[in-house]
Amino acid sequence: MELIVKRVVVGPLDTNSYVIFNSETGEGIIVDAGGDPHKILSVVARHDVEITGIYLTHGHFDHVLAIDDLRKDLNCRFYIHEKDKEILFQAPLDAESFLGLSIPKPPPPDGLIEEGDLIDIGGLKLRVLHTPGHTPGSICFVADGYIFTGDTLFAGSIGRTDLVGGDFGSLIDSILNKIFTLPDDYVVYPGHGPSTVLRVEKLTNPFVGEGGLFKI
Ligand SMILES: [Zn+2]
Ligand SMILES: [Zn+2]
Repeated sequence: MELIVKRVVVGPLDTNSYVIFNSETGEGIIVDAGGDPHKILSVVARHDVEITGIYLTHGHFDHVLAIDDLRKDLNCRFYIHEKDKEILFQAPLDAESFLGLSIPKPPPPDGLIEEGDLIDIGGLKLRVLHTPGHTPGSICFVADGYIFTGDTLFAGSIGRTDLVGGDFGSLIDSILNKIFTLPDDYVVYPGHGPSTVLRVEKLTNPFVGEGGLFKI
């Protein structure tokens, strides 16, 4: 029994959505829902996954665009950290000012998640890590051997902190003192771009790696 991870690149900013499911029970979740619901749904259908919930790494519009369609189609709940509720509600404003895109107001979250919460996927678990900085309520999901980092840590980069609620010091602290305490061989599945391995980021990330600009 193991968790299978499928990456789907969606939406106007090429956001990664992940469909994660238990190889034996077929239960699964979706991490981030950045658009193109039909693309995500086709992955769910292809692997015959029974989705039990949608979990957001944070509330930016490029991670929430497909929420309403998905939760209606899959008849499941969606969850976010309480500190990103405001950012979720201002998603239409951000989409308008960044891309001139008109999007409907996202629904209010069905539930809230916080540091230490365990998400059960047919007996296998993801742990919630609160990693503020990119947004106040940014979270990561930690499984056995990998981590979903949202827009906090990317392959060779880090999340921006110049948007509403961003805080540079918190971002660096979250990466160095939370994410980087995980084992070197953990795979990183970020909110945009390719996956990487923690060892590589600890050594060569130009911001937080050895000798990096902001290594404290
Ligand atoms: Zn973001
Ligand atoms: Zn993003």
